[in-house]
Amino acid sequence: MIGDIRKVTAKIAERFKHRFYGRTFQCPVCHLELALVDVNGNRLLVCPVCGVVLDVEEVYGHAVPVVLDVEVHRPQPKMRVHPLATHLPIGLYPFAVLGAGLLFVASILEPLIKIPLFSRAPVLADATLVLLVLSVGFSVVTFVSGLRDWSRRYRKRPYAQIRLKIAFSVVFLLLGGLAIVLHASGAAFSAGTGLVDLGSPLALMLAVVELVALGAGMVVIATLGHVGGTLVFGR
Ligand SMILES: [Zn+2]
Repeated sequence: MIGDIRKVTAKIAERFKHRFYGRTFQCPVCHLELALVDVNGNRLLVCPVCGVVLDVEEVYGHAVPVVLDVEVHRPQPKMRVHPLATHLPIGLYPFAVLGAGLLFVASILEPLIKIPLFSRAPVLADATLVLLVLSVGFSVVTFVSGLRDWSRRYRKRPYAQIRLKIAFSVVFLLLGGLAIVLHASGAAFSAGTGLVDLGSPLALMLAVVELVALGAGMVVIATLGHVGGTLVFGR
């Protein structure tokens, strides 16, 4: 089961990655996938994971990286805020998505069957909002600490992986912000019942927009986590 989820995530991440990476080659030391476009004018590239300085030659259209040196003075902080901070949004966000999904299903079932549990929907709606605000709010800390790592640890060098992460973080904040505004306003999930008023086309449309934003955010955050993982563990 977990293996299947990982495979699906990796497939989705792969699709997004290659749009950003273009042609790639592997670091000969840690096997991290590196983008050819990041090689500088002197044909040099420092591997972001293992810190080797690579001289990348193109031979018959193939990138051939040769290890020249090791960047000894790269700061390797023991307490790395970014990889730690990332787990709060990644851990909480899926439960916010689950909460909104359950509320939507309950909205469809409620007119058909009467279960006392439906009267608890406002509690689930509130819990979903709390989870959303915590996960999206804390992702700002993750984003800022990531930018700080990029400027200090990686000396603001261009890396396709980091460009992708910055772009996707902005997209995640926008999608998460949209979902928070829709959820908190009570326009999609009614503040009184916690459910979608299916009689109102506007409420139904807003609820669908919220669910789509949440679902897209899930794909974005999974890709962020996957790419981030490659920057910690190599391949
Ligand atoms: Zn490497």
